[in-house]
Amino acid sequence: MAQTSVNPAKTPRELVENISHQSIAHPGANISFAGKVASIRTCCPRAAASVLSLFHHLERPGHPDITLTVVGRECAHLFHSQIDWDWEKLGQDPAGGSGWYLPAWKSITASDVSRTTVVLISKLLGARDFGRREIMRLVLQDVLDHHGILGIHGATIGGATSGVFLSNRGGSGKSTLVAQALSRGLRTTGDDFLLIESKPPRSSSDFLYSYFSNLKIHPESPAAPLLNLSSIKGEEKALADIAPQFPRGLVDRHQIVALVIPSVGRETSLEPASHERTLKAVLLSSVRLTGMSQQLFFRVKSLIEKTPCYSLVVGPDPGEGVNVVESLLVR
Ligand SMILES: [Zn+2]
Repeated sequence: MAQTSVNPAKTPRELVENISHQSIAHPGANISFAGKVASIRTCCPRAAASVLSLFHHLERPGHPDITLTVVGRECAHLFHSQIDWDWEKLGQDPAGGSGWYLPAWKSITASDVSRTTVVLISKLLGARDFGRREIMRLVLQDVLDHHGILGIHGATIGGATSGVFLSNRGGSGKSTLVAQALSRGLRTTGDDFLLIESKPPRSSSDFLYSYFSNLKIHPESPAAPLLNLSSIKGEEKALADIAPQFPRGLVDRHQIVALVIPSVGRETSLEPASHERTLKAVLLSSVRLTGMSQQLFFRVKSLIEKTPCYSLVVGPDPGEGVNVVESLLVR
C-alpha cells in the first residue's frame, strides 16, 4: 500500500476527505442495497474478501451513492498518522460531518453530514470480522437509514420475481423452510435480514431486497442435511453460503404477494392472520435487532395493509410447509 504523507486530520470531515481523496484504500466493490449503490472500500484485499463474502451476489457496476471505507486492526496503523484527535473524545464536527467512538469495537466512525462518505477505523475488529453479518449490519445500519433503507427481519421464498415474506421471531422455522424451498428450485432474497425502502413505492407492489448471501440455520434443523454448513465459533447455529450450492437460488429482490407468520407445530396448517397479529410478529422480531423507529412501524404497517397475511404452522415435514408457501405464490 502506497503511503502518502498527509496533514493529520483534526476533524472527522478532514479524515473523511483524507481517506476518500487518496487511493489508500483497496477498492472492494460496488454493492447494490435496495437499489442504492454503495462503494465499499477496505484497508486491504483480505478485508475486501471478507466483506464481499457477505455481499458477492449484490455486486453491481454503477456510480455509487455512498462510499464506505472500513479499516481493520491489522491495517489501522497505516491510517493512524491521519488522525489527530483523541479517539475517545469525538463529538460533532462544527465544520460539518460527524464522528463517534464506539468502545466495544475501539473504533471511530467519521462521516460527512449526508452520510455519503463514511470511514470506519477499528483497533479491535480484524479483516475476518468484516465477514460477520452482525458486524457489517451494525456498520451499515446508520448509513442505510440515512439513505432511506431500513433493515427488516425475515425471509422470502418465491420465484424469479415474486415471493412470500416470512417473518417471526427466531426459532419459528424460517431458515428450515428457506433451505427446503431452495432444494426444490425455489428462490430467496435471504433468510434472516432483508432490506426495505423506507418510503413505499408509488406502484401498488411492495418489494423486499436481499442483504446477506448466506443463511444461518440450526444444525439440528430437518433441512440441515440439504446444506453444506460451516460452523460459527461460539455459536450454536451454522452458516451456509447460498450461491455456490444453489446458483440461481438468490435473487436481489422479491415483489411481495403474501405475508406469512411461520411457527413450528404438530401439523401443517394455514389460516388468515389479523393485521394486528402480523404487525406484532414482524415488528417484535425486527425491533430486537434493529431498534424501533417510527419509520419502520409505518413502513411495516403499509406493507401489511397491502398484502394478504397468514399464520402458518409447520409440522415435522418442512416440505409440507413449502407446499403451502408455494400455493400462496400462484394464488
Ligand atoms: Zn486490512
